[in-house]
Amino acid sequence: MTPEESRKAAEFFLRKIDEYIDHPVRFMEVCGTHTVAIFRSGIRQLLPEKVELVSGPGCPVCVTPNDYMDMAIAYAKEENNIIATFGDMLKVPGTTSSLIEANTRGADIRIIYSPLDALQMARDNPSRNIIFLGVGFETTAPLTAATIQAARQENIKNFFVLTSHKWTDAPVKALLSDDKVNVDGFLLPGHVCVITGEGPFSFVAEKYKKSAVVTGFEALDILQAVYMLAKQIHEKRAEIENAYKRVVKYNGNIIAQKAIMEVFDKTAATWRGFGLIEQSGMSIKDEYSEYDALKCIKGDKEISKENPACCCGDVLRGIIKPPQCPLFKKICTPDKPAGACMVSVEGACHAWYKYGQGRYHYGR
Ligand code: SF4
Ligand code: SF4
Repeated sequence: MTPEESRKAAEFFLRKIDEYIDHPVRFMEVCGTHTVAIFRSGIRQLLPEKVELVSGPGCPVCVTPNDYMDMAIAYAKEENNIIATFGDMLKVPGTTSSLIEANTRGADIRIIYSPLDALQMARDNPSRNIIFLGVGFETTAPLTAATIQAARQENIKNFFVLTSHKWTDAPVKALLSDDKVNVDGFLLPGHVCVITGEGPFSFVAEKYKKSAVVTGFEALDILQAVYMLAKQIHEKRAEIENAYKRVVKYNGNIIAQKAIMEVFDKTAATWRGFGLIEQSGMSIKDEYSEYDALKCIKGDKEISKENPACCCGDVLRGIIKPPQCPLFKKICTPDKPAGACMVSVEGACHAWYKYGQGRYHYGR
């Protein structure tokens, strides 16, 4: 598409959105990358005021609870352990400290870009326990599963996973059953749906009669998805549609789904801001329990508590916007985050801090 064609398409979508919507509506972008793309491209300013976009629970770092961080920190304190983690976990606050603070006190915490790097670390350090922090949704879980299978094939005994992998359909279900949450439609995460396909989200339309559109990460993808949501509402339809067909197939990636199902069981898991959600977590199956850090390695974990002043839970459920949290920008900043939503670049508070100041109407 030429820039001129893109401009014309954007104008068309915006005109139609305005035409189709005749009352205030709220659409939630489930994915953190959408939140960032919406800010970066100025979509919020372009949309008519009656269309409000709210951020949802789609950043894996943001929804990781204190309890998990406290366990990782407890492991980090033991001399024989090496913690292998993606860099964005370092600043996530636990109950009283973070991994970065443990690191400054001498813990061996190493940043990696793939669980396969952690497996290599296990080969290179046979006398140490390598504990990989498995955080992420359906997008990253297949690689963790494949790494566990590779560890088994090679008979590697010092590689472990502390899993916090999660399914993204579960919090959407929780949101739809929560009376406080008021959302008219969802922008579904394109990356996740590449793996899962559209199927897991069919309940949004079938059970809850809400509209949803799977979308990509370009500004025009997002505008097209908002247009499709607006059209559904105008035509009084509630369906799952796919605006990202060039990448997302109806049934998703079967090989990746199989890898997840071979290694993980679907279990209840705790989400920051939501609490325990049934069938939302991926725990390591018994047949792979020798790679499950929780089952194999003891850690002296403190009693976990969430910070009562932090409003991440309300932000993640779309009940408030980040600037409405009393800590926003005062006590909580990307350099010194009080809550997880300020840590990740995909977190709503981080995005508002970076792109949102002074350029948007308060409350929009
Ligand atoms: S992992 Fe992918 S789908 Fe999930 S929040 Fe990040 S970018 Fe979005
Ligand atoms: S500003 Fe900080 S404390 Fe408040 S909701 Fe956001 S991350 Fe949580």
